[in-house]
This record gives sequence, structure tokens and C-alpha cells, in this order.
Amino acid sequence: MTSNTPPSTPANYIAGDWQPPSGTERHQINNPATTEALTTVTFSSQSDIDDAVSGGLDAFETWRETPVEERIQPLFRLKQLLEEEQEALAETLVKEHGKTFDEAMGEIRRGIENVEVACGVPMTMQSGTLLNAAPEIDESAPRRPLGVFAAITPFNFPVMIPLWFLPHAVATGNSFILKPSERVPLTSTHLLSLIEEAGFPEGLINLVHGDKSAVNHLLEHPDIEGISFVGSTPIAKHIYETAAAHGKRVQAQGGAKNHIIVSKHADLDFAAEKTVGSAFANTGQRCLANPIAVVEEDVYDEFTANVVSRTRDLTVGDGLASGTDMGPVHTEAHAKRIREDIETGIQEGATLLLDGREEYPDEPATYLGPTVFGNVTPDMNLATEELFGPVLALSPISDVAAGIQRINDSRYGNAASLFTSKGSEARQFKHDAEAGNLGINAGTAAPMAFYHFGGWNESFFGDLHAQGEDMVQFYTDKVVCIERWPESDTK
Ligand code: NAD
Repeated sequence: MTSNTPPSTPANYIAGDWQPPSGTERHQINNPATTEALTTVTFSSQSDIDDAVSGGLDAFETWRETPVEERIQPLFRLKQLLEEEQEALAETLVKEHGKTFDEAMGEIRRGIENVEVACGVPMTMQSGTLLNAAPEIDESAPRRPLGVFAAITPFNFPVMIPLWFLPHAVATGNSFILKPSERVPLTSTHLLSLIEEAGFPEGLINLVHGDKSAVNHLLEHPDIEGISFVGSTPIAKHIYETAAAHGKRVQAQGGAKNHIIVSKHADLDFAAEKTVGSAFANTGQRCLANPIAVVEEDVYDEFTANVVSRTRDLTVGDGLASGTDMGPVHTEAHAKRIREDIETGIQEGATLLLDGREEYPDEPATYLGPTVFGNVTPDMNLATEELFGPVLALSPISDVAAGIQRINDSRYGNAASLFTSKGSEARQFKHDAEAGNLGINAGTAAPMAFYHFGGWNESFFGDLHAQGEDMVQFYTDKVVCIERWPESDTK
């Protein structure tokens, strides 16, 4: 099989073979834009997962002794294949997820950047040596790979998020199992078909479809060394606690409620443009979206008018149609929950400035226009909960310090942004805002692949984050080697 012909139905990829999952549960996948049934995914049985782990273990035995220069060669091929297949993969992603084609292309690019960074592992995996650490003693701390790692990933970035982990895990000498969201199995299968073509050894990289029972089996499996997770906060907490209780390394990234602060010293037009972009890209289904902007009172009315006018101009449609700015919500059930959250906002007394609920009566129920609320107070559902949809809340504040306090009062801490032209405000924000990814005059604080992807408070459970140098640390451990080589004439 070549990369251009991934299995037409979602298949597991275990020990170098495409296999139908052998569980009994099934889940139907519809195109969010048309409601057309795309496929049905069957979930893996526990024995499928056991097979993936044992394939990973076998592959690890050889891979851990493979020279690093050889380990990165399939990653260079993967980068090339991802670039050649970017449009085809983006199309699969749009049909299954609902985002726009441009968003899908951008997501894949972000994934490719992680492959590029992992190719630098001959440098990044080096660690310290000290000659003469003691009389006639040299000490060094070489990094070793550990074994089989698994990643459990969400539906909203089904190419980029697996690639936050996979290239780094294998570049450092480990083997890898991907358990993607059960809501995007076609995209994962397409991605794995490229990985197959890149020429990694059999069993090194495995794909198992499934839901929570697959996850729980991975968390408890004695031969898995570590777990990377990205998803909602309650599940992240469960993953962190369960994997740690089973002696594994774990990094678990959770949900978010990110704030933008708009200072009266900001370029308001620029801030409004970036606020709208951040809130509604990916239909608001992003952990880095800023769904609430807290705005200094002096400029609140002007900023609000600008945001509402820009939002009104957004075109909602099929992500594959040209001119679409925002795709549908991923599922009807999720769109229904967002409609209910909008109703809650009205009941709680926020001012509904733009109502996206009834804008597309002739389209499937996944279509939801962008919604904007004003005069949102800190206690409202709109200010505290992650809605994960196209809803933007605007809230007046007295000054930037009050905005930072709003961020710090949130139980989340994934990201935050400040728009200002005043250096002292920017500095205060950089020092005091309690969030892991900070943007200054940047609407979406998305770190490049060579920086770690932050996340604090209930947005992250663990120590070492995704991306960047944290990945080398997560996927390796250091031994300390104390060496003495006395001159000897006995042998
Ligand atoms: P989710 O938590 O529902 O699912 C994520 C993964 O967990 C999936 O693979 C799923 O199969 C598995 N899962 C679901 N329920 C489980 C259970 N009870 N036990 C064990 N495993 C379970 O998340 P989602 O809806 O796919 O994604 C959206 C969420 O992900 C949002 O909260 C978003 O903020 C978050 N997210 C966070 C980041 C980040 O970097 N912090 C990035 C992207 C998405």
C-alpha cells in the first residue's frame, strides 16, 4: 500500500500490518458539513492493544541500539511525504472534522514543524560529561530511551497533536502507540499510512482505534513506560492519576478558558482583528482560543463595536468551499450544548450582541453562526466554563491589573494574551499572568515546535510539556556513569 491509498475504512496499524480492530463497539463518523456518513470505526479489543504493545517492545530492542543518524532518516522522509500529501490529508481532515481547508493546511504545517525539530535529536539528546570530576574519575550522564510510549489525543487537531509526540518519541529511540480520538479515525489512518511509507521499522509506530476502554487498558498496561495525553480537564486528571498510580511517566494537557486583556493603550483595530481570529478559528474548538476578552472601560464601547462588526462579516460554510471563514461545529450534539450555553448566558444577564443560533435554518444542525456577548461578569458561565465553540464574551475591566487578576482567578491556565503599546503593562503581564502560553500583541499564543507547549493549573497535569526540549527529557532518562581507568600493567 502507498500513502495515496490509506485503508478506506479505519484500520489498526500493529507491528507493521493493517488490521481491522477486533472489538465489538462501533462508532459512526459523519461529515459535519453535510451529515453524510463517512465511515464506521470499530474499537480495539484488549488483545489488539496487547499486540501493539508487544510489537512495540520487539521493535524497541533493535531501535534503542540503532545509531541516531539512522533513526532520523525516516523522519526526513516523513516530512517530505507530509508535504507532498498535505492537500490530500487536509481534505480528509476537513471532511471528518469540519474545519476549513486553510485551517487544516495550517495544522499539518504545525505538525511538520515537530518532525523537523525531532530531526535535530543528534544535538538535543546530548548530555553532560565532566572530565576529572574526582581524582582519576570522569563522570557523564548519557540519556537512554525507555521503551514503549503511548499518546491519547483529542478530536480537534488530529494531525498536529499526534505529531507533538510521535517524532520525538521515536527520534529518541522509543517505540510508540497512537490512540487517537474515536471521532477522527480516517485522518489518523491516513496519517499512519504516510508513516508506513516513510519506512520506520515494523512495530515501531502503532495505531489503535478505540474509546475509554482502550485508554484504560493502555494506562494499566505493565509494558508501557509513559503516557502523553491531550483532551478535556476531567479526563486529563483521570489519565494523570491512573497512569501515575501504575508507575508511568505522564504528561496530561487539559481544557482551557483563555483570556485576552485589551488595554486602553492598545491598537484597538489590531486587537479586535486578532480577538475575532482567536475566538472563531477552528469554530472556537481550540485549546488556545481566547473566548473571553476583558477590556479597559475607556475603550470598551469602541472595541465592542469593532469586534461585532468584524464578526458579522465572517462567512460560515463547508470547510472545503472557497470563501468559508468558519466551518460547522464538529457534531450536532456539541452544537446543541453550545446553543444551551448561549441560552444560559442570556438567562444570567449578559447582553447578546450577535446571536449565531438561528442563522442557518436550512443547514444541518452542526451549523452555528458566531455569537458575541457583552457585559459578561466574572461569575457567569460564559466567563468560567470552556464552551469549545464559536462564542465570544466581552467584559469591561478597570485596568490591566484587574485583567491579570481575572486570569489568575480562573481555574485554568492554558494561555492568555495582552494587547497594549505600553511596555510596563506588558512586563507586568509577563511576570504575573498565571498561564503557560502568553501572547503580547498576539491573539493566539501558539508556541513554535522548538518551544514547549505550556499549560498551567487545571490545563495541565505533569511536569514536562509537549514539544521542544521537554520532549527529549520526557522520552529519555539519564544514567550517571562514573568511570575510572587506572594505568595497569597486570594485563
Ligand atoms: P476528550 O477529553 O473528550 O477526549 C480526549 C481523548 O480522551 C480521546 O482520545 C478519548 O477517546 C479519550 N477519552 C474520552 N473520555 C475518556 C474517559 N472517560 N476515559 C479515558 N479516556 C477518555 O477531549 P476532546 O473532546 O476530544 O477534545 C477537546 C478537549 O481537548 C478540550 O477540552 C480542549 O481544550 C482540549 N485540548 C487541550 C489541548 C491542550 O494542549 N491543552 C489541546 C487540544 C485540545
